[in-house]
Amino acid sequence: MTIIEVTNLRKSYGDTVAVDDVSFTVDEGEIFGILGPNGAGKTTTVECVEGLRSPDHGSITVLGHDPIQDRRELRQQVGVQLQESKLQDKLTVAEALDLYSSFYRHPADWNHLLEVLGLAGKRNTQYRKLSGGQKQRLSIALALVGSPKVAVLDELTTGLDPQARRDTWDLIEQVRDSGVTIILVTHFMDEAERLCDRLALIDAGRIAALDTPGGLVSRAAQEQRVRFHPATPLDDELLAEIPEVIRVQRSGQHVIVTGTGNLLHAVTSVLARNQIVAEDLRIEQATLDDAFIALTGRTFDH
Ligand code: ADP
Repeated sequence: MTIIEVTNLRKSYGDTVAVDDVSFTVDEGEIFGILGPNGAGKTTTVECVEGLRSPDHGSITVLGHDPIQDRRELRQQVGVQLQESKLQDKLTVAEALDLYSSFYRHPADWNHLLEVLGLAGKRNTQYRKLSGGQKQRLSIALALVGSPKVAVLDELTTGLDPQARRDTWDLIEQVRDSGVTIILVTHFMDEAERLCDRLALIDAGRIAALDTPGGLVSRAAQEQRVRFHPATPLDDELLAEIPEVIRVQRSGQHVIVTGTGNLLHAVTSVLARNQIVAEDLRIEQATLDDAFIALTGRTFDH
């Protein structure tokens, strides 16, 4: 069931067109990603969805409501993680959660949220004394404390160390499993690939593509790479003559074969026929990075 519908959204700031004709829908229970480089228009898009900005053109429906006209109602049902938390330094974790709970008709049990988020021991710690990862997790708790149906998480793991990032990803999957629909704004390819059911790739205010992560990669990446270390001497020409092969390159002791179709089978057959032993043989899958380059013609500017 579709619960968010954005149609032909446009938003400018003076002469800057931040979002230009963006349309997408989000289904109940999915993690929908909005992925793009800095300045692509991601935050502007979700701020319009949240009712924080009014569109210049186009329409938005969230849970059957207009985000601007029905903002008070939607505030009860949509949890928003702020990009930078604006909490007072001296507020403790418990005070912050009590304060935010008071804004909602049906607040969640925040003690449970703290358990899940690994902040149970920090109830009485002041905001300023929390580490970066703990502040980030508190901002997630604050986004969820109103028991929202939809949570908008913007740059979820910016500034977190690798372990904290992985923990946060696990947590987001748990939140989704508890029935919350999630819009995830990110400029991290790995995060989008790992978490999102579907994602909109945004570039310069427009949607370059919208698909599952796997769909985006396979749509964009017709080429594959096979890499191996030949344990016996190999004439590269043997591989270059294979119809599926586009290029054969050397990288140190490794041979990298780029091609299409059933490349792995074609390459290993020729190697076997010529009694060449391939060690450390790997297929290199295309990534969302490759997809972004193929779909926009530009490299992803982190
Ligand atoms: P992203 O979230 O993808 O980084 P934003 O939506 O923040 O992108 O920004 C899109 C474009 O709009 C950028 O060129 C940015 O500089 C511009 N922009 C964003 N907010 C404002 C604002 N309040 N005033 C003027 N320009 C803005």
